[in-house]
Amino acid sequence: MADFGIKEALATLGLQEINEGTSTGSVNFSNGEIIESYSPVDGKLIGKVKASTKEDYEKVMDAATSAFKTWRAMPAPQRGEIVRQFGNKLRELKEPLGKLVSYEMGKSYQEGLGEVQEMIDICDFAVGLSRQLNGQVIPSERPGHVMREQWHPLGVVGIISAFNFPVAVWSWNTALAWICGNVCVWKGSEKAPLCSVACQNIIAEVLKANDLPEGISCIVNGDYKVGEYITEDTRIPLVSATGSTRMGRIVGAKVAERFGKSLLELGGNNAIIITPTADLKVVVPGAVFGAVGTCGQRCTSTRRLIIHESVYDKVRDAIVGAYGQIKIGNPLDENNHVGPLIDKDSVDTYLAAIEKAKAEGGKVLVEGGVLEGEGYESGCYVKPAIIEAENHYEIVQHETFAPILYLMKYSGDVENAIELQNGVAQGLSSSIMTAEMKEAEKFLSFAGSDCGIANVNIGTSGAEIGGAFGGEKETGGGRESGSDAWKVYMRRQTNTVNYSDELPLAQGIKFDL
Ligand code: NAD
Repeated sequence: MADFGIKEALATLGLQEINEGTSTGSVNFSNGEIIESYSPVDGKLIGKVKASTKEDYEKVMDAATSAFKTWRAMPAPQRGEIVRQFGNKLRELKEPLGKLVSYEMGKSYQEGLGEVQEMIDICDFAVGLSRQLNGQVIPSERPGHVMREQWHPLGVVGIISAFNFPVAVWSWNTALAWICGNVCVWKGSEKAPLCSVACQNIIAEVLKANDLPEGISCIVNGDYKVGEYITEDTRIPLVSATGSTRMGRIVGAKVAERFGKSLLELGGNNAIIITPTADLKVVVPGAVFGAVGTCGQRCTSTRRLIIHESVYDKVRDAIVGAYGQIKIGNPLDENNHVGPLIDKDSVDTYLAAIEKAKAEGGKVLVEGGVLEGEGYESGCYVKPAIIEAENHYEIVQHETFAPILYLMKYSGDVENAIELQNGVAQGLSSSIMTAEMKEAEKFLSFAGSDCGIANVNIGTSGAEIGGAFGGEKETGGGRESGSDAWKVYMRRQTNTVNYSDELPLAQGIKFDL
């Protein structure tokens, strides 16, 4: 199989000695067992990374807590300047980093580049924000007094991230956390460990060039056991964790037990409502990209289509027809639309979900299955499947992180479709396809979609960094990225200052001595 420039990309990112077990950067002290990273693209070993032991973790925390004292004292716009330089480095390294993301995670090269672009965009956003961490001045009820609100950094922010966005999710968190004056300790996914090391190499270079301590950005490597060091650590006031609902349930409880804050970004079960006036030119690409893009491994992937019975046959046939055009193969080859699943465990989960859907009464419209033969040696390539199903099936109620799309009908008013859309435990992304203004507004109203993201005439996947990103219910309730999501990375302090010669008490209370 062609190399697609992977070796060059790895060398450019400082990962040339990866077969020795990388522990690059002075703050990545990892000395533990070796984690091997195999590409789902061709099944080959890409490199090895050492996991962090508890001792390594303690060294990282020492470096981070000491760096915090330097970093928090820098004016926020100066911190923004460092983030600007980091964004510029990412611009220079967009192609090699995009390639590594694609090769290690399996998403298309275009999506790998898109992920790095998101990192660049959030850096730009953070640079602007570094001059806008504004508090408020609040009228005091007491004469000669002024009240105001200030935002202070929290300290060490812990970031735990999932395999499917192995670099962007970190940057969403870290770019904002940094300009807010925090330092970060990141545990990336054990399924894409080289992506974390590559990112650490990039920021370490920027920090070094500015004579700043590398402890401002730290990584630890490993699986959930290393994640537990973070969740249990009272020195970490905020843990931002992205991953499955199963993980979030454990992490949320652990962090809450010690009165830490958690920002949870968990699984979705996203639906598109397709009404009688939906425009098929928009519906078909929106639904198909949403369902098969990143091989169905986005938290915002489209899992369910809720189609009005009057247009059901037409929409079904158009979508099934479009599935016939999908090219599955090496994601670094730009002719392919769909790459592999992350690993063979995921393939098993996908196959089991199809069997379960059938057992519950689902009718397969587009057959799934594992691809074999030349180009598919990794065993991780599967065919996107479409199944006619009902919303109450147990398997439909669950997020299967694979390209399986469930089609279901609704009849009558849009309220019936909204009820189905909301009738799952997750609440991340949702959309409606309609030309009717009233239907669209109902969907966006308090009585409409219960998700954190509700779109009209676009699909469920592919959010922009300018908006707050996250979802309700079992998706965890967290918001990160744009809008005022920065506030979660800071602590709010209310100040009352008396510039009079008296001491009037609040609520008119008299206390004469
Ligand atoms: P996962 O839950 O298996 O792992 C996510 C991360 O959590 C990994 O780094 C893992 O090591 C760590 N982890 C797992 N258990 C832990 C524990 N008990 N304590 C501390 N850390 C622990 O998820 P995954 O398979 O990597 O990713 C897929 C899932 O992530 C899907 O459910 C997807 O919807 C979700 N996701 C959500 C968003 C979002 O923004 N809502 C974004 C991306 C992915």
